Amino acid sequence: MKTVTACLLPISRNSIPIQRMDAALTLSRGDVRVNWGSGAVDMARQPLRDANQVTSQQKLLHSEQSRPLVLSYPAERQRDSPCWSMERSMHPRSRLKIKHPMSNWYENWIDVTYPIFPGMTGWPGQPETKFDTLSCIHCGDQAKVTMLHFSAHSGTHMDAPNHFMAEGIDISRFPVHVGLGPVRIAAIDCEGPVLPEHLDAYEARTRPLEPGERLLLRTPNSDKAFWLQDPFDTEYRGIGPEAAKWIGQRKLALIGVDYLSVGPFHQGNPQTHRALMSANVWIIEGVDLRKIAEGDYEMICLPLKLAGSDGSPIRILIREV
Ligand SMILES: [Zn+2]
Repeated sequence: MKTVTACLLPISRNSIPIQRMDAALTLSRGDVRVNWGSGAVDMARQPLRDANQVTSQQKLLHSEQSRPLVLSYPAERQRDSPCWSMERSMHPRSRLKIKHPMSNWYENWIDVTYPIFPGMTGWPGQPETKFDTLSCIHCGDQAKVTMLHFSAHSGTHMDAPNHFMAEGIDISRFPVHVGLGPVRIAAIDCEGPVLPEHLDAYEARTRPLEPGERLLLRTPNSDKAFWLQDPFDTEYRGIGPEAAKWIGQRKLALIGVDYLSVGPFHQGNPQTHRALMSANVWIIEGVDLRKIAEGDYEMICLPLKLAGSDGSPIRILIREV
């Protein structure tokens, strides 16, 4: 099996509706699989005799939907280049040594998503999370079907800008590249809300945060046991409005926290949300960082495409780089 990285360029108006995208090709005998964005298109019906056939400058292939694509290999892009190749090449951390080449693409991911289950801890005043069984196999039905009842802000989830801004976009318009790529995790030992001085101290012991970076804060919230079984803790550590402005000024792409809201419960919760959203910083909340240490990671994190919704559960995976 051979893995290479390439660019896909649409060559007709009927092809994929983007100008350029990176793709990873895994070649085995008589089979090509193209992985990109939201999934994989199996190109087994368009076999290549051997891997050398795709090393030419341009090769016309047809996808499952018979959309014409041209594969081209820029001179600077080598075989066996790592995943996130396009993003890394544009990212300030692209200089760092890459631990996971494409051949390890499936390995070492850590799931830092909390489960969603009936009766789990939710925001005070909101209906309890509940699953109704519409049909069940052991009751004699053909299939099990569950009806879900829970807030868009349950468990590990993402906020959309329209959660706090009347003109903000909804979660279905989340730019997926924001959820894919390098992420830094900072351990913040704070007794109250996260303050700018905590973030200054993190930068001082690591390196400055640069525009477009993603950051997850591991606070004392993560030192509690499985808090989703406990009553809602109004004393959780959130990001104070001043620290939220600090994050906005750094132009981060995404900020994440380890309890159910990015802002403190008692004071400044809306201000924190608005400071981040107005600076185009995407927010994820309730990340399970109990076993995760400060450091450099990469992340896969995507919300459901819920049209009009102000938030969505996410599945989030990280791994060390
Ligand atoms: Zn939320």
